[in-house]
Amino acid sequence: MDECIFCRIKRGDLPATVVHEDDHCLAFHDKFPRAPTHLLVIPKKHLPDLNALGEEDKALVSHIMLTIPSIARKQGLEAYRMATNIGAAAGQAVFHLHFHILGGGPLSPL
Ligand code: AMP
Ligand code: ZN
Repeated sequence: MDECIFCRIKRGDLPATVVHEDDHCLAFHDKFPRAPTHLLVIPKKHLPDLNALGEEDKALVSHIMLTIPSIARKQGLEAYRMATNIGAAAGQAVFHLHFHILGGGPLSPL
C-alpha cells in the first residue's frame, strides 16, 4: 500500500493540485487531463476499486456521492461525467478507488 500513488498523494508525499479535502475524501486535478476539467475524487481509505466496497463503507460511499456534485459546482461545471473504472481491462491503471469528474466542454459519447 506504500507504493499506491493515490495514498502517497493523500499523505502529501506526491504533489497534486487539491481542490477539495475533508475527513473522508480528497479531490485533485488529474495529471494527464482528458477534458478541460478532469478531477479525481478518492476516498482517504485505501480500497482497490468499487468491488472492494463492503457494508462498512456505506457511509463513505454516500458521503463521496454527495460531495461530488458540490465539488463540480465549485469548479463551475454545469455538465460533467462521473466515471470509475473497475479492472485493468476496463482501463483502470491506479488501484485505489477513484471517481473521474470530466467536464468543462463537450464530451465524446460513451
Ligand atoms: P484509471 O485509469 O481509471 O485508473 O485512472 C487513473 C488516473 O490517474 C488517470 O486518469 C491518470 O492520468 C491519473 N494519474 C496518474 N498519476 C497521477 C498523479 N501522480 N497525479 C494525478 N493524477 C494521476
Ligand atoms: Zn491507496
